[in-house]
Amino acid sequence: MRICLFIWFVLIAEVTLAKDIRIGLFESSPVKSIVVKYNIGRYDLFSESMQFPTMQESSEKLTVKVNGDKVQVIKNDELLGNFRWFRLSRRSPENSLKLFPYGKERRYKGDIIFYSYAGHLQVVNEIDLEKYVEGAVKGEVGYGYNEEYYKVQAVISRTYALFMHKHEEEGFDLCDHTHCQVYKGINYDEKIERAVNFTVGQVIINQDLSSINTLFHSNCGGRTSTTDYVWSKRLDNLEPVYDSHCRKSSQANWKKTIDKNDWVDYLSNRLNKTPEEIKNQTLDFTQGVNRKKNYQVGGEYIKLTEIRSFFRLKSTFFSVTDIGDKVVLTGKGFGHGVGLCQEGAIAMSKTGYSYKDILKFYYSNIFLLDEQAISFYMLF
Ligand SMILES: [Zn+2]
Ligand SMILES: [Zn+2]
Repeated sequence: MRICLFIWFVLIAEVTLAKDIRIGLFESSPVKSIVVKYNIGRYDLFSESMQFPTMQESSEKLTVKVNGDKVQVIKNDELLGNFRWFRLSRRSPENSLKLFPYGKERRYKGDIIFYSYAGHLQVVNEIDLEKYVEGAVKGEVGYGYNEEYYKVQAVISRTYALFMHKHEEEGFDLCDHTHCQVYKGINYDEKIERAVNFTVGQVIINQDLSSINTLFHSNCGGRTSTTDYVWSKRLDNLEPVYDSHCRKSSQANWKKTIDKNDWVDYLSNRLNKTPEEIKNQTLDFTQGVNRKKNYQVGGEYIKLTEIRSFFRLKSTFFSVTDIGDKVVLTGKGFGHGVGLCQEGAIAMSKTGYSYKDILKFYYSNIFLLDEQAISFYMLF
């Protein structure tokens, strides 16, 4: 009995000492019901009112459905009941489950919790932070890159996960799609796993021990952007840099030809002028070495972010040439241009820069600190 109690204590301690984070799953397209199957290890099943026999057989299956303000749980063909919440709790950090949203299989480590929220089934994955970071690096970057670059992304993902909790009112920390970080479950890539282990606990902070917004984009086109050119306010630690590393990458240059009537119609609607008044102005516009914030026509200004959004352009880093019945947009880069340039960072990592060099190049006045040390310093 004593041995059993000791083992139980060790198992509980192993789970609870690790830092967990709560991820809202399937947030881009919420589900009303889902099937759960055993994958690896044993899971304890709880609701707010009772505990059920452990789930451990590969043939066992749970079906969970939203039912008003409760969730209905069926084990194989037996109704377990309707509950305010239902949890599958892991006995070990390496245990995992198979979930079947949208008819596809996804595998998750950690606990899975279900409850009813806003008419849909809320599925939350409560998982060790480092395991989550592995999944987020896989989700945000994908397979096929080098280990040093994965270290860069691991630190960025961990920093974001620890400080950007946008969903606390819904009962979790982060969602699983682009609104927060893309996360589709377990990572199976050894390079990602090694990169996360190498950087374990490391987060980026500023000189006040506050978090920084670790924004990134695909390709800056040779010059990153300040935040106030994209959003309304300027954020510290995101000063623009000249980036020679990404200029030969696949997203470095682009071109788009637009019918001149469409361009003129857009400008006349936007500036409340007739098409003739617009046509009397020069439509040419040149970006310099530095990125500009506005397109200028006839003494009036339009934010380049508005034009990018309307014409679905790859970036705001473009020049305009009027060639008669059309205008040609000659652009650089892909994405908002703020923070770390992914293609530049990949190129740097291939030429021998360390992940610390790369982070310091794109984010200004930053420090790398173990997240447990931040809590320590906060006591004083
Ligand atoms: Zn989110
Ligand atoms: Zn770049």
